[in-house]
Amino acid sequence: MAINFSELATVGVQKITPYQPGRPAEEVAAEFGIAKPVKLASNENPLGPSPLAIKAMQAVHDLARYPDGNGAALKQKIAERHGLDVACITLGNGSNDILEFVTRAFVNPGDEVIFSRHAFAVYPLATLAAGGIPVETAALNWGYDLKAISAAITDRTKVIFIANPNNPTGTWLTETELRPFLENVPDHVIIVIDEAYAEYVTAEKFAGYPDCTQWLDDYSNLLVTRTFSKIFGLAGLRVGYGVSSPELADYLNRVRQPFNVNSLALVAAEAALDDQEHISQSREMNQTGMAYLIEQCEQRGLAYIPSAGNFLAIDFSRPADGLFEAMMQQGVIVRPVANYGMPNFLRVTVGSEEENRRFIEVLDRVSNDV
Ligand SMILES: *Cc1c(COP(=O)(O)O)cnc(C)c1O
Repeated sequence: MAINFSELATVGVQKITPYQPGRPAEEVAAEFGIAKPVKLASNENPLGPSPLAIKAMQAVHDLARYPDGNGAALKQKIAERHGLDVACITLGNGSNDILEFVTRAFVNPGDEVIFSRHAFAVYPLATLAAGGIPVETAALNWGYDLKAISAAITDRTKVIFIANPNNPTGTWLTETELRPFLENVPDHVIIVIDEAYAEYVTAEKFAGYPDCTQWLDDYSNLLVTRTFSKIFGLAGLRVGYGVSSPELADYLNRVRQPFNVNSLALVAAEAALDDQEHISQSREMNQTGMAYLIEQCEQRGLAYIPSAGNFLAIDFSRPADGLFEAMMQQGVIVRPVANYGMPNFLRVTVGSEEENRRFIEVLDRVSNDV
């Protein structure tokens, strides 16, 4: 008789819908016979990694040895970057790792975890895997309704996840909005502010966007996560970090694999932090590309959600699955977001100039047919 794994799995895991990653370019190339597909599905950096990061990895020769399980050198660099003590830093195999540490370390079966509708898919995953109860609050203009989140807090609430900016909507919260909210979160709740896209948010365009890594003194229940996967262009290496009070970091580190960040990722991340030019270039490319995509949307009468990230959620006012498929067959991979409660939208990552142009070209070619 076939084993019923569904019954064997924990109650939380039974409820998990697996994460749907963007289609790999190689797979699309093979399936549709496209020489060079354009992948704008996972918010990766079109410039690639910093050359300094590549050079640092090439100098690593002792892969037979375990990495520094403490990640001392990288932590030191991160601590300097944010003006924090090294004891505030927790390293992760991607910032995804940190999001899971929080639920593993703090969520007992039956505890509640709050996040907003249209928020990052990893929050419910991490919650259910730990046996927690996901509590989804309503959105406000596609963004967060902090009043609704406050109202959802109960004695069983353990964690609140907030992405700023949020993925896949690109919406962002200002200091003026976040401060009064945080003041009122009770001490038994860990607040996670996920700043995966923080480096893309420029003060000129997004006045009042806060750097919450600077708020640790005010809230000892605050954890801020950052990643090397987005502007630093190292998504394939899997490295990210959290900053929090040392007390909170101590508990996160208890559930961390002893060698969770590999040797190549450690040196590459260190080098990437030093490459200010690569960061500026990436930011500029994003601004130019975002302006282009917005202009093209407006010319075509397409609505979009204004975005502080490196991606744009475009509203096609009709189910967008067919459009996604048709574009993929023409070698342009974007992200359908029906699983985020946004069936009429496609999320497109801001690519290089050429990639963005190809996206628009292919969109024009197929949009009348589907
Ligand atoms: C991409 C992304 C991350 C980063 O995940 P990594 O595990 O660091 O690659 C985290 N949060 C959000 C909201 C993201 O979009």
